[in-house]
Amino acid sequence: MNVIAYAARAYESDAFDRFAEELGISLTRVPQNLSLDNAHLAKGFECVTILSACDASAPVLEILAAGGTRFVAARTAGYNNIDAAAARRLGIRFSNADYSPNSVADFAVMLILMSIRKAKTIIARNNAQDYTIVGAQGREMRNLTIGIVGTGRIGAATAKNLSGFDACLIGYDVVPNPALKDLVTYVPFDELLAESDVISLHAPLTAGTRHLINAESIRKMKDGVIIVNCARGELIDTEALIEAIEEKKVSAAALDVLENERGIFHADHRDEILKHRQLAILRAFPNVVVTTHNAFFTDQAVCDMVEVGLRSLASFVRTGASPWEIKA
Ligand code: NAD
Repeated sequence: MNVIAYAARAYESDAFDRFAEELGISLTRVPQNLSLDNAHLAKGFECVTILSACDASAPVLEILAAGGTRFVAARTAGYNNIDAAAARRLGIRFSNADYSPNSVADFAVMLILMSIRKAKTIIARNNAQDYTIVGAQGREMRNLTIGIVGTGRIGAATAKNLSGFDACLIGYDVVPNPALKDLVTYVPFDELLAESDVISLHAPLTAGTRHLINAESIRKMKDGVIIVNCARGELIDTEALIEAIEEKKVSAAALDVLENERGIFHADHRDEILKHRQLAILRAFPNVVVTTHNAFFTDQAVCDMVEVGLRSLASFVRTGASPWEIKA
């Protein structure tokens, strides 16, 4: 069977070789992200695999469908870049990848620790040979209430990680996770906002979660709250967050994802004038850590992403179904 892999990264190369051979797949690799400009390359390919930086909006899916594509496998957990309604209308079935949730969960804990221990300040001072400590006093996890929004695979793994620090864990999810009954106390969303010292976001981007963190929800939070986002940038109204940091309502933030990150993160822009004012402002704050959609990026997760993407397509073609298909 033939598969075209868009956004085929160099770091995926070994895994692509290994699983393509194991599954008997002839693979065409396109390093560029899927877009209107290169969707025609999929002509004649029933199976396409993509990453989250790919554009799978309706106009792009129309080109894929016209070229014979029937299955799209995201090698990512998030699939908000796929226009689900358009895919259904065009008869394209699609799946996501349930790769190692610990990749993101470990990173979330790192960002929480960096925020509560003022790591950015400590490192910046060291770089300037300023070895003073006043102003860099931190807080201890065991004294904090940490609110986890979205307790699926990654939120649950984050809760398990955090339980080792003896923090008080509260959670909010539209579908509570029974596996967390001994670790997390579920509370209504407004209560999580009011009670949390740290809020860690792990919900998917949907119409219902876009700007879940906005001026109104920030007003309901504790003074000095810390916000960590390893989910999707659009969960936060970035302008409202910047204002809340300026007003010192939010004492720190750590963001692995950012609104309008596409085209900026995962590329080298060192000689350019970047068109992302919010990124420039956030990077300048001493109490904000910005990482560039790195959370997933471990050896285990990359291997899993490629494996699940290709297995899903093989399963669609050979059995007519995929355990990773998104149906809702
Ligand atoms: P998942 O589907 O296992 O869990 C998501 C959870 O969020 C579910 O329990 C769901 O019920 C819950 N949820 C849905 N709507 C909600 C709402 N309105 N309020 C609260 N909870 C809600 O997904 P996952 O594998 O845990 O991944 C979560 C998200 O993390 C992905 O959708 C993706 O956007 C993001 N992600 C980011 C990175 C990264 O590198 N930064 C990597 C992987 C995933």
